[in-house]
Amino acid sequence: MFSTTAAIIVDLQKDFTTLMNGALAVPGSDEHFIQQTAECAAALKAQGCRIYGTLDWHPADHISFCTSHPGKKAFDSIEIDGHTQKLWPPHCVQESDGAASLLPPDLCETFIKKGSNPRFDSYSGFFDDGGVATGLDDLLKQNHIDALLICGLAFDYCVKATALDAIRLGYTVIIIKELTAAVAPDSAEQAQQELAAAGVCFISAESLLF
Ligand SMILES: [Zn+2]
Repeated sequence: MFSTTAAIIVDLQKDFTTLMNGALAVPGSDEHFIQQTAECAAALKAQGCRIYGTLDWHPADHISFCTSHPGKKAFDSIEIDGHTQKLWPPHCVQESDGAASLLPPDLCETFIKKGSNPRFDSYSGFFDDGGVATGLDDLLKQNHIDALLICGLAFDYCVKATALDAIRLGYTVIIIKELTAAVAPDSAEQAQQELAAAGVCFISAESLLF
């Protein structure tokens, strides 16, 4: 049923969850949320859907960290080389406990790491802000995937960017809305409008599984 469909679980990492008091915890990403996501992904996998995860994976001096810009604080925005960079508390530092995935170990076929270049952020699971591909598109094409179910954190940043790039790359994109959580209501509303305008569909987990 899902032979040409893959699920992309975006950044379900300790630092983004309230469950683990993460450095950049997204409201609503509690134990129930994590469990529902894992259960839905396991059920999809049992029906033949490939499951991939993305991981935010930053060096300690990453450009998106407020600590990399003296005098700036978390959630400030700065201009760098002609684009706006939002600054975040340090999060998902490579090999740190906060960067660990909260998914069951064998659920995902592959994890795609993003944001590893200290100079570029990478909300999208496909390309960083410098335009360098992560390898996710190649991986999906090698496996003849043409449709993506996307969920994870955060809806208004990395889920949104991943979904918009996926649309541009020609995939059919469906977001499992209740298995996402957003940093803030206003950016979530804007993301919803942008995604719908781009042709992204929304579905409930329940309707997928029965
Ligand atoms: Zn990040």
